[in-house]
Order: sequence, then structure tokens, then C-alpha cells
Amino acid sequence: MENRILVVDDEKETRELLSRALTRLSRFRVELAEDGEEALRRIEQENFDLVLTDLKIPKKNGLQLVAEIAKSKPEVLTVLMTDHETMDSALEAMKQGASDCLTKPLNVEEMIVRLQRVLEERQRFVRLKELAAQLERANQEFKRLDQMKSEFISVASHELRTPLATIKNIVQLILKGRTGEINEVQADFLSMAEKNTDRLTSILNNLLDLSRIEYGKIDIKSEELDLRGIIEFILSSLKPQAEEKSIQLYMELPKELPLIYGDRGKIEQILTNLIGNAIKFTPEGGEVSVLSKPFYADGNMVAISVRDSGIGIPEDQLERVFEKFYQVDGSLHRSTSGTGLGLAITKGLVEANDGTIWAESQVGKGSTFTFTLPVSKGEKRDLRFRHILDKAFQRAQGNLTSLTLFLIDVVDEGSQSKDALIGLLEKKLIECVYRKADTVVRREKDKILAVLCDTDVMGAQVIRERIEQEVQEHFVKGRETPPVIKVGAATYPEEALSKRELFRKAKGQLRG
Ligand code: ADP
Repeated sequence: MENRILVVDDEKETRELLSRALTRLSRFRVELAEDGEEALRRIEQENFDLVLTDLKIPKKNGLQLVAEIAKSKPEVLTVLMTDHETMDSALEAMKQGASDCLTKPLNVEEMIVRLQRVLEERQRFVRLKELAAQLERANQEFKRLDQMKSEFISVASHELRTPLATIKNIVQLILKGRTGEINEVQADFLSMAEKNTDRLTSILNNLLDLSRIEYGKIDIKSEELDLRGIIEFILSSLKPQAEEKSIQLYMELPKELPLIYGDRGKIEQILTNLIGNAIKFTPEGGEVSVLSKPFYADGNMVAISVRDSGIGIPEDQLERVFEKFYQVDGSLHRSTSGTGLGLAITKGLVEANDGTIWAESQVGKGSTFTFTLPVSKGEKRDLRFRHILDKAFQRAQGNLTSLTLFLIDVVDEGSQSKDALIGLLEKKLIECVYRKADTVVRREKDKILAVLCDTDVMGAQVIRERIEQEVQEHFVKGRETPPVIKVGAATYPEEALSKRELFRKAKGQLRG
């Protein structure tokens, strides 16, 4: 494609010489202007790819022209011509946005090569920008499809569960002889149908759980819990399964196991999945144990491990077992029925309870899956805050708007001044937000939780800076040591797509 170049020089002779050289030696379309103002006017009205200007031109010098073009038409490239005495201007021109500088007297061939080079570079840059935009569009589309997929799975599994439950009821009625006598063969077939309905229901439940986790719609109702009772309950409910394979079940818990804070139903589901897998992947006569100990590496947590003496998992697949639909290669793993969703769900449930999960294993010797849960601090977490966050989050999802979660911790402060500082920060936060009606700022003992609707990443950054500035001012007002505060923030949808993710990201920043 032909490139359009505007040559700006007050000397008619130079203009014409350049025009001839550029047109004859290369495929440039050249236009001419004699001063800065004419050049700017033409750039405004027409499309140019490059402006080649002399430094000394009337009605604005070359440097000013470069700077103005960089500001008003950044897509137009500029190249400045200087002579030896004005070399300093070359540097200045590059700072102002010129793509290159040529020194007079000009070597025409060199000039053409250099002009072509800057034009090619720009083309590469434009192409790169286009590709980045395409990538961004593809990414957005991918996110949209992913969301549609989750919704589809959620609706489909929900809708399929009801007819399945009806089928199961009918099969059970016939099996119990309520519709007349049936013979043994019929009973066998019906039992098979019943088992398969159960299997289908469990697959649907798994899909539904997974889509809730991925879609950030998992409902967590946390409370203070005694783990011992929960573990005993799950072990006894899985005992028949273990007995079928003569597997011994053990529980090794320390006497003083702290209370934890989590969702009972979800923790039962985690334990059922892990102990169920341990039994499934352990040959006859093996052992499965549930162990627990305090775990301080990541705050105040309790670690619960499910250890088996089973077939084990190769080292290189230990991480992958938590991926959805992943099943370890090898006949021993494949021979047992499963969908490969259990551990993905388990991981999601552990994380929804603010814990982490990992696996250790030795092939042929056994595996240990360990997850952590937060120790209860005796606090009643603010259910109202959660409720308001739920509502605000739903609204942000529905209206495609942003939402930022802020957590602010005041550390190292005397209790009196801590109170004052928290009060100040709370006020500042409310001052900063744009839609006050939708904003919730909760004050707890030594921290602030805030949901800010319509606040995107940039807005959150501004608020963070203002808060930090407020703290500095507080410090300046006659204190010896600055107060230490930690601010954690995460924004939907740029940084997190679910409430859990918002909390995790914001809390992660607090720890960092
Ligand atoms: P599923 O059990 O339905 O196949 P999971 O997500 O629960 O799906 O597990 C994924 C894979 O991880 C299993 O198919 C199995 O290969 C491996 N796995 C899980 N738990 C164990 C275990 N305790 N011992 C050996 N392999 C295991």
C-alpha cells in the first residue's frame, strides 16, 4: 500500500528535491507544506502516515510540530530533519514522540530506508494492537460462552433431576410389589434400573455442584463446628462400603482439637468424597485413616488428612487429579466407576470454606489428601453483611456493572486510637464512593468490610490511595510511629468472578 508523506520545509528547492526523490525511489505519495500552521491544518483535514519536517520552519518550529502531532494525532509518525549544530534538538524531538531524526545534508537512499523502517515498525505495532484487540474479544466471547455453559449445565441438571426422582419412585413401587407380583428376573432388572437411576442422579448432582462452584453461586452457611463429631458421622456412614472390601477405617485425632468455622454440609461432602475415594482406590484388606492436627502455616488453621494404603497416584498427576473430568491413567484407576468430578468439587468446597487442599502419594503404597479449615475465632461472622454482598453481587452480575470488595485491617494500634482511626477510615471510604445508596460499610472490632457497587479496578485504586493518604495524615497529627493498616481489595468482574474469589483475593492481599 502507498504511504502518504507530508514534507514540511520552508525552502522551495528542498521541498521539491525531497518530493522528487521520495516519489522516484520509493512508493510514497508526497504532499508539501511550507510552514507549521499549514502542516497542522492539512494533517487535521487529510490522512497522512508520516510527517517529515525540517527543524527550522516558519510559524512553529519542527519540535513544536512534532509535539502537537504526538498529542492530537498520535497515529501519524513524525521524523525531524536537523543539521549538525542542532543535534540537541534531535534528542528532544525523540522525547516528544518523533520516530526518527535525520541529519542534513541528507543521503537520499539512507533517508528512504529509514522512513520505510519506521513505517514498517508502525505497521507491526498496528497489527499487534489489532491482534490484542482480537484476543480480548475472543476472551470476552469465551467468558460469555463459559458462563452460558455453566448456566446450561445448571438448568439441565436441575430439570433432569425431577423426572429421574419420579422414575426411581415408580421402580421402587413396582419392586415392592405394590403394582402386582413380579418374578425374580423382573426384580433383578428393576434393581439394575434403580441402581442406574441413582448413579445418574449422583452425576447430575455433581454437575450441578460444579456449575454452582464455577459460577460463584455456592451457598456457604458457616458456623462454629466440632470436627470430631462430623468425622465420626461420615466414617460410620461409609463403614458398609469399607466392610465390603474388608478395609479397616481409623480415626486419629488429637485430644484438644480446636473448633473450626465452616459449613457443616459442605465439610461432610468433602469428607465423604475423600474417604469414598480412599476406599474406592484401596484394594481389599487395606486401611483408611482420618487424621487431624493444627496447621499454622497459613494463619490459624486445622489440617485434616485422609490417608489410604491404596494404589497411589503418580507424582506427575498429583496436581491434575483436582481438574474436572480428570482420571489418572492406568487400568486400576479406570476400572472403578467414576466421572472425575469428585475432587474438582471437593477442591471448590474446601476453597469456599477458606481452606486449601493438596495430595501426596506413592504409587503402590497409598495416598494422603490433606485439606485445611479455619479455626473458629469465637466471632459471630456478620451474616447481614454476607446477605447484602449476595444481593449486590447478583445485581452486578445482572446489570454487568463492577463491584469492589474492600477489607481494611488496622494492626499495631492502641485500642483507643484504633477506634478513632477505624472511624476515620470508615468516613473516608463512604466519602469516596460514587453511589452511596448501594454501598455497605461494616465495621468490626479491628477491621472494616465494604462492598462498593459500581467501583471498578481504577476506582478501587483511587480509594486505596485516599485511604493510605488519610493514614499518613493521621500519622502526621502528632504521632511517633505511623499506624499500620492493611488494605485488601478485589473487583468483580476484572479480578474475580465469584464472591468466594473476591474474598480470597482481598484476603490474600491482607496477608501479603
Ligand atoms: P472419580 O473418583 O469420580 O474418578 P475424582 O475427581 O474423585 O473422580 O478423582 C479423580 C481421579 O483421581 C480418580 O479417577 C483417581 O484416578 C484419582 N484418585 C482420587 N483419589 C484417589 C486415591 N485416594 N487413591 C488413588 N487415586 C485417587
